[in-house]
Amino acid sequence: MQKFDLIVIGTGPAGEKAAVKAAYFGHKVAIIEKEEVYGGAEVVTGTLPSKTLKETALFLSGKFEKGVYGVERGLEHEASVEDFMYRKNFVSASAAQEIYENLMRHGVTIFHGIASFEDPHTIKVRGEKEETIYGENIIIATGSYPYHPSSIPFDGKRIHDSDTILQIHRFPKSLCIVGAGVIGCEYATIFATMGTKVYLVNDKEHILPFVDHEVSTDLVAQMQAANVEILFNKSIESMTPAATEKEMISVRLKSGEALSVDMFLFAAGRSGNIKELHCDKIGIKVGSREQVFVDSQYRTNIPHIFAVGDVIGFPALASTSMDQGRVAVAHIFQTQDLEHLPSHFPYGIYTVPEVSMVGITEEDAVKRNLHFCVGKARYADMPRGKILGTKSGFLKLIFSKDELRILGVHIIGHLATELIHYGVMLVEEKKTLHDLIGQVFNFPTLHELYKYAGYDGLSNHTGHKVKP
Ligand SMILES: Cc1cc2nc3c(=O)[nH]c(=O)nc-3n(C[C@H](O)[C@H](O)[C@H](O)COP(=O)(O)OP(=O)(O)OC[C@H]3O[C@@H](n4cnc5c(N)ncnc54)[C@H](O)[C@@H]3O)c2cc1C
Repeated sequence: MQKFDLIVIGTGPAGEKAAVKAAYFGHKVAIIEKEEVYGGAEVVTGTLPSKTLKETALFLSGKFEKGVYGVERGLEHEASVEDFMYRKNFVSASAAQEIYENLMRHGVTIFHGIASFEDPHTIKVRGEKEETIYGENIIIATGSYPYHPSSIPFDGKRIHDSDTILQIHRFPKSLCIVGAGVIGCEYATIFATMGTKVYLVNDKEHILPFVDHEVSTDLVAQMQAANVEILFNKSIESMTPAATEKEMISVRLKSGEALSVDMFLFAAGRSGNIKELHCDKIGIKVGSREQVFVDSQYRTNIPHIFAVGDVIGFPALASTSMDQGRVAVAHIFQTQDLEHLPSHFPYGIYTVPEVSMVGITEEDAVKRNLHFCVGKARYADMPRGKILGTKSGFLKLIFSKDELRILGVHIIGHLATELIHYGVMLVEEKKTLHDLIGQVFNFPTLHELYKYAGYDGLSNHTGHKVKP
């Protein structure tokens, strides 16, 4: 039996980064993947495919350029689904290849097949042949899968989850999406940008409840203006699939309303991918939604077995999963370079328009009885915003009244997911409005939003407001 210092199960972002880091530090590492394509949800069914589709939808529709250059692209009604998927397929394939090459460069041994525990150190791999390997340490990085309620007759043709929506063969004329979380909102704006009428069914009074309400309210207004009808405080009573290709799917809401739609996407919730591991055989503790319990070092109740990424639940992002993998390896091999994730990390929501945030929201500040103040700057007021023709979007700072310390940054608008990283540094490094205003920025850039939100914050704080 082959023996390894570390066996990693899964080649998603959590598994890949853990494996290459351990190998980089000179350890003998194996990684096991059950799918043909490497990269997990980041590459195959989630992050990169959906982000590429968003860029494709923006390009084909010419949404940003409309009215700015006097040229209308507006190809969304002419584009075929193959046009729509072309770039996504290219990006996914090249990212998967890059992961394979990265594993190879680091000398990681790759096994193909389904991994399961034989005993706490032995993993069976069921692939073309069956083999067992020994791991001194093991990292579970098996990710998550979309939750399927029994009431929804998923068929992968017209009734989809977030995996199968990537395999459509034609554009939906209309689409009902259930779940106004990140995935639901992103796909709602992507399909609406391509000209599909979208109904977004949301059982709460806000979409994206963790987002600052001023930002989510602005997003709602922009989504509604772009052909997304959001049904607040509504949930599904039943649905009837279409009997023929020409007929519509009928969706009945608990409120009594009915929708008749071409396609349906259920995007509410995910569960940990542990079924095939046989965790029960060795007594690994798991919680509801099949998530593995870990401590702050990502160690399970069995000391040499760790778990990272979506399989442990929140925050279930590719960004944090990668670093959880690296942190776990730091604890396994005492590399002493990364003890834990930073206390503040950004959230990026790739809707049209993008939303990104770090730190506390205004609602958090109110709930915690903080003495705080806000400052805002609008894209349309920045010279770079004028060049780009951005008519909407803003950056909002939340800061403490006493020390003027920046506690939260919230952005909605073009490139928000890029702009946020300066905000992460401000919040993580406990910077003040004066630290921010004292910085020189390239001119003209969208980063000036920070500076002018800072000035706006100071004028709100002192009450000496020049600009409304
Ligand atoms: C539509 C969508 C959009 C997203 N957008 C973003 C985004 O914009 N930004 C962001 O940061 N995150 C995003 N995410 C989340 C992100 O994709 C996940 O957080 C991330 O992929 C989790 O990484 P992971 O390594 O834990 O698991 P995964 O990426 O799920 O990888 C797990 C791997 O383990 C393999 N595996 C499972 N069981 C076994 C077994 N028994 N044996 C062998 N192999 C096994 C799987 O085949 C898979 O390759 C998105 C997710 C979705 C669904």
